[in-house]
Amino acid sequence: MFKVIVKESTYDYAVLRKDIFDMMAAIEDSSSVRISAGQRVIVKPNLLAAARPDKAVTTHPLIIKAAVEYVLEKGALPQVSDSHATFTKFPKLIEDCGIAEALKGLPVEIKEFTVSKKVFSGRDGEEFTSAARYNALELSEDALAADIIINLPKLKTHTQMGLTLAVKNLFGCVVGKRKPQWHLNLGENKELFAGLLVEIYSVLRPEINIIDGILGMEGDGPGTSGIVRQMGVIMGSSNAVALDMAVCRMLGVSEMSLPTNKAASDRGLAGEFTIDGEMKHIENFIVPTLTAIVFGPPFARKLLRNNLTSHPLNIEGACKLCNECVKICPAKAIANDTKRLNFDYDKCIRCYCCLEVCPHKAIKVHQPLALQSIRKIAKLFNSR
Ligand code: SF4
Ligand code: SF4
Repeated sequence: MFKVIVKESTYDYAVLRKDIFDMMAAIEDSSSVRISAGQRVIVKPNLLAAARPDKAVTTHPLIIKAAVEYVLEKGALPQVSDSHATFTKFPKLIEDCGIAEALKGLPVEIKEFTVSKKVFSGRDGEEFTSAARYNALELSEDALAADIIINLPKLKTHTQMGLTLAVKNLFGCVVGKRKPQWHLNLGENKELFAGLLVEIYSVLRPEINIIDGILGMEGDGPGTSGIVRQMGVIMGSSNAVALDMAVCRMLGVSEMSLPTNKAASDRGLAGEFTIDGEMKHIENFIVPTLTAIVFGPPFARKLLRNNLTSHPLNIEGACKLCNECVKICPAKAIANDTKRLNFDYDKCIRCYCCLEVCPHKAIKVHQPLALQSIRKIAKLFNSR
């Protein structure tokens, strides 16, 4: 039985430091994990894009600082690392996210994941038999070689996957351009993508997982298009799947509606868990609605797809034509004609990488009129 610890907290560093230290110690006590002198410890926050901490796009720098100080106190060697989604240089991203300032003066390595290694075994040395679909799995060499991984996700929504929590955060251990390449390889199938995320989790198995839900995000996350929401909570566990299930419970979201939870459960990776602390209930949390985007008889699929599925839409007044979305799009579905962006929705695989990386809130999720009408009717029936 796993334990998920829940604690109300704030970004007041004196309070937060104690809360994180207590939580780390409690996670060690609840498992066989011990951080000890000389160990190499990877601290893996969510560093999706260069954004100030109050935008809730990235893990708060003070949570990273507290985790690093805990590791240092144990005499271990912390390294803060991620491979982010945008084309911003890593040192600038670290600066813009407030991490450089927060970690100033601490003996910690801050390093982008840049080198990949093919996966043949899990971190525990157990031989890894990857499903055929994910045979080409390569992950960060540093993450694979770590003695301990501390996973520090941000509590946010995700337009493609519903929420991005502890399991999804490990996608940042896929280095650089391999991330959009995976989106392209797996196409529009959320279940396959969730399977990949669980596959990555089963290799890395972070020993400590603490989610930053003090300032979280709802709506069209995980980038700047989401809505910042104050929730005032941190939650932690030695088991990332148990943590994700508990977060769903707190948000009033069905646990199995999150594709990664379902994929983990199908693979027997979701165990029972208990809650330690007072579970909060976040009312009316706005989660993006996940819809299948390939459905219906083959001859009608294109018509149904164009009229009954959401898609990314450019907000022209806000768009600075910076090309970040054009460069990241794995399907090459966005063109910049120097005056505006043009989306090719037949090519678009609805991965929403464009929405993730846009620094100017210039992409939104658009629901075609027919889809809006169907949802209204369904809501009416459900409320009866
Ligand atoms: S939509 Fe955003 S990322 Fe794309 S070109 Fe416009 S401002 Fe840049
Ligand atoms: S247009 Fe956006 S959602 Fe569509 S494939 Fe490209 S990045 Fe993904």
